[in-house]
Order: sequence, then C-alpha cells, then structure tokens
Amino acid sequence: MQEEEPTQKEEVKKEQPQEQIWKPKSKLGKMVVAGEITSIEEVFEKGLKIKESKIVDILMPDLQTDLLLIGQAKGKFGGGQRRVFRQTQKKTKEGNKPKFSTLAIVGNKDGFIGIGFGKAKETVPAREKALRNAKIGIFKVARGCGSWQCGCRTPHSIPFKVEGKCGSVKIKLMPAPKGKGIICEKEVAKVLQMAGIKDVWAKSYGQQRIKLNLIRATLQALHKTVSAKKTQQQIDNLGIIEGRVKPKPVIENIAEENQDE
Ligand SMILES: [Zn+2]
Repeated sequence: MQEEEPTQKEEVKKEQPQEQIWKPKSKLGKMVVAGEITSIEEVFEKGLKIKESKIVDILMPDLQTDLLLIGQAKGKFGGGQRRVFRQTQKKTKEGNKPKFSTLAIVGNKDGFIGIGFGKAKETVPAREKALRNAKIGIFKVARGCGSWQCGCRTPHSIPFKVEGKCGSVKIKLMPAPKGKGIICEKEVAKVLQMAGIKDVWAKSYGQQRIKLNLIRATLQALHKTVSAKKTQQQIDNLGIIEGRVKPKPVIENIAEENQDE
C-alpha cells in the first residue's frame, strides 16, 4: 500500500458539502463534536441525557435499524396482514384525516437497544420521528446466563427472569440454555435480537391484538435487567455483562473535521 499524499487529503475535506457538518445544540452534542466524549458508555456513566439523535449516529456507527409490524391491513384480501404502519382516522369537519404511526427499533445486537414511536399525517415523517425517538431513547441491557440447565457464565441469554407490563399486557422473559433460540412472539423476538440476546423463553398474557403494548412491556422488562440489584456473586456466577461485549467501535475524529470551518 502506498501512502496518500497529504495534499490530496486536504482537497477531499474541502469538497465536503457544508450541510454535512453537524451543529449540535445540546451540551452533550457539543461535547461529542469536541471529542470530549467518544463512546456511548461514557454518556451513560456520566448520566448525560441524549437530546439529539445525531449523537447516537456518531457514537454508534454499528447501529442497525428496523421497523416493527404494529399495523394491520384492512379489507377482504389483505385483511389481517401485519404492516409497519398503523393507520388511524380522525373525523373532522373537512372529512376523515388519516394518521400513520410506526414503531422503530435501533440496536447494535450487542447490549444496546432503543425503541421509538412516531406518528404523522404521512408515512415518511412518521418513520423519521420513530427512528429519532428510538435513538434518543437508547439504553443498555444486561445479559448473562441465568439458565440452571446451562450455567455457562456467558452473556447469551438474560441473567434472571424479568417481567414487564403495559396496559392489560404482561410479559415474562426467562433465561434459556445456549442454542435454544428466542422462543416468543415474532416482534418481541426482533427486539431481543436487536439487543444481542440469543436464547430466551417468553410468556405473554392479556390482549395482544395491538402490538404496541406488548413491545412496551418488553422494553420495561429489559430495563429491569440493568435496574435490578445484583450481588457480586451473581455477577460472577451468571456471567453478567451490561452493554457491549465486543470492543468499542472507533469513531471518526469529528473535532478535527469541525475545526476546518
Ligand atoms: Zn448458558
């Protein structure tokens, strides 16, 4: 490999369009741009609040996104089919006004997950809103092996049983042995996979025709993996790890880029 000439590099930088340089408004955003914070872990350690989704874009270049099937097609033929957009009507003097809502998930498949709801008159802005909310709401989960049949002390499952509730819907997530897979409802499985959980058993109760409450209950359960008190003995015996297992991704030096202005 030959070394690139420095003059060439400079040219590339100058050609970058102005709008690509992000101007943060929040305190955390400014710290990220200044290179004072270089990982999502630091954000949580320092208890800082994420107010701009771009922060997550920068700190998590390995982030993946997906939409959950929360809607249902109407009509004779497509009826019952699951869709990513849920359509609702609002009756006004001018007639029926449709609104679209969707649920986005973001995650790194390695201990971080976020879910966001978005609603708008059209599908595209609803999706954008949902994605933004999912990124802003990103949080870490704790993984481990709480399965007594397994006991391998690696973070392939969850460390203990957790429960979540939303409206009439309740969900129980239970540790499963290695290789079992995620045994639960499809959309819940998508969420767990996005968080990097590989083996789990889930049981849900209540009215589940509307997926929204089921997903919210799942989120609550996942939050508990971190918020639940753990003894050092549990951490050792169950192989509990909060957040990511893989090394932190290397992020570009944004500070340098912004100095060029
Ligand atoms: Zn195990």
